[in-house]
Amino acid sequence: MRDGILVINAGSSSIKFSLYISDGDDKPLLSCKGQVEGINVAPHFIAKAPHGGVLNEQRWPDQPNLSHSALFKYMIQWIEAQLGDAELKAAGHRVVHGGSLYSQPLLINDDLMAELETLVPLAPLHQPHNLAPIKALKEVHPELLQVACFDTAFHRSNPWTAQSFALPRKITGEGVKRYGFHGLSYEYIARQLRQIAPAVARGRVVVCHLGSGASMCAIHEGKSIASTMGFTALDGLPMGTRTGTLDAGVVLYLLQQKGMTAKEIEDMLYKQSGLIGVSGVSNDMRVLLESSEPHATEAVELFVYRISRELGSLAAAMGGIDALVFTAGIGEHSPQVRERVCKHAEWLGVEMDDEANQRGAQMISTMESPVSVWVVPTDEEMMIAKHTREVLQSVKVA
Ligand code: AMP
Repeated sequence: MRDGILVINAGSSSIKFSLYISDGDDKPLLSCKGQVEGINVAPHFIAKAPHGGVLNEQRWPDQPNLSHSALFKYMIQWIEAQLGDAELKAAGHRVVHGGSLYSQPLLINDDLMAELETLVPLAPLHQPHNLAPIKALKEVHPELLQVACFDTAFHRSNPWTAQSFALPRKITGEGVKRYGFHGLSYEYIARQLRQIAPAVARGRVVVCHLGSGASMCAIHEGKSIASTMGFTALDGLPMGTRTGTLDAGVVLYLLQQKGMTAKEIEDMLYKQSGLIGVSGVSNDMRVLLESSEPHATEAVELFVYRISRELGSLAAAMGGIDALVFTAGIGEHSPQVRERVCKHAEWLGVEMDDEANQRGAQMISTMESPVSVWVVPTDEEMMIAKHTREVLQSVKVA
């Protein structure tokens, strides 16, 4: 019998799922994916086939406040009806925070859950929502093997210097340090590179994960050395609606001089800044690239400028750079942004092949370029499915 592996990625207002079927091959096969969104407002369930055809859709117009767990149970029942001759063997969850200790995906038990609960203060906007479906699934399927895959885990190989703020030791000891995020995406890219270009994968690579959340990571010999995200996913590059790096003095100013509350500042930094804040037009890069509004043009300029500055910093962390990789929504689909980043990076030895870039080729640098440049689509769900299957296999063997 084939194994069904469920991947869950839950946020505050949505729960995304992907169902994979594995018969032991290297790559689990995506069977269907979907989400419940609009939780507490206008719940909406949609499920799609791998190539996008809608398989099922459901709304609850009379029950806008239908609970998280009721919606989750509806979703699980629908998923189980899709298994065919496969058996649901395991569920892998994206858990944003694994703290300082966890550098690997882990089989979930009560002790681990208690540990992960203690990390909620470090990621209050995400961690509780990541843990909720683990508990809900345990109620429905107490025996199902569940695996936690951490967004911070890949960066635990960072040297001490890359993980530290220059704060008093006491506060650092309480866990105020740089954790880094988007780790599942970077790990997936590092594994893909090993297949696409093994020599490149052994070198010094900077990966630009440019989506609605955006960050960059320095990877040497497949291991994370440094990244632009820090204590939270607010640090580093400007994003769709998040500021990226900000002088901490600005937060003090907003608090002390403007009299803003912590909640108002949180909203400003997470939801009203970045591309939307600078442009006043949109958080969507496609809209900004097509807009003739001067502030939209400046938002793109600032985004590219910050990427270019961070690229220098990450190259310095590795003592140089051999390859540059673009991934996620903007990185995979915007030749304009890639071209502008590569232009700024000529001083590092980047020579872009314009035609290959426009065509969306896998390698978009010239053959002579001292630094090769790649476009590699990311797939965090597949990474979670692979991890979950690895844990499942290790449990079977033990
Ligand atoms: P992600 O979070 O990885 O799904 O990326 C989402 C973002 O990618 C969107 O907000 C868009 O700004 C951006 N994006 C998607 N397609 C394109 C495109 N063709 N050109 C520029 N940006 C794009």
